[in-house]
Amino acid sequence: MKKIVFASQNENKVAEIRSQLKGRIEILSLNDINYHKDLAEDQDNLEGNAIQKASFVKHELGYDCFADDTGLEIEALGGEPGVRSARYAGETKDAEANMKKVLERMSSKQNRKAQFRTVISLFIGEEQYLFEGVCKGEISKEKRGEKGFGYDPIFIPSSKDKTFAEMSMEEKAEIGHRGIAVKKLISFLNKL
Ligand code: IMP
Repeated sequence: MKKIVFASQNENKVAEIRSQLKGRIEILSLNDINYHKDLAEDQDNLEGNAIQKASFVKHELGYDCFADDTGLEIEALGGEPGVRSARYAGETKDAEANMKKVLERMSSKQNRKAQFRTVISLFIGEEQYLFEGVCKGEISKEKRGEKGFGYDPIFIPSSKDKTFAEMSMEEKAEIGHRGIAVKKLISFLNKL
């Protein structure tokens, strides 16, 4: 079976992607290859960060690899938190603090439109590719739901009346930004 590293230490995300692959490709996390440090991601857009992470694993650690970078882009906040989504409220990457900051900044806004955007960079053999997935929706007035991670409790995708945190992993993967980008990645890998 083909092995590809998903350059992520977030086992939630690795599990989400594994649930869509149905055993065709073996996905290794950074933990699986015994890499436990943070990968640098200091570029000023999602594409740059995804390429930086995947390129490191390919060229420094020697594995075919893909890496993703995701941002929550809120229209009324000029696209914030965007590439700074993880650290919006500070370096500790605290999801609760990040959501609190978003809800405070959105408290006076009528326009609650937002989207999650995922970019995946793939380095395989000698080639490199980019895939994108977008999920449009809106920011809720308050947190709802216990599942998922990050901003899930405050994001309601357009096609639903519940937040990502109120959905099962499968339901979210079906319509979610990362799921869409991953489907493009998988359909590409299946054609190789
Ligand atoms: P990453 O690039 O996937 O690490 O995402 C950066 C940040 O965006 C994370 O730390 C989360 O705050 C947020 N994020 C990414 N994906 C999701 C998601 O599926 N749901 C909620 N928040 C997410």
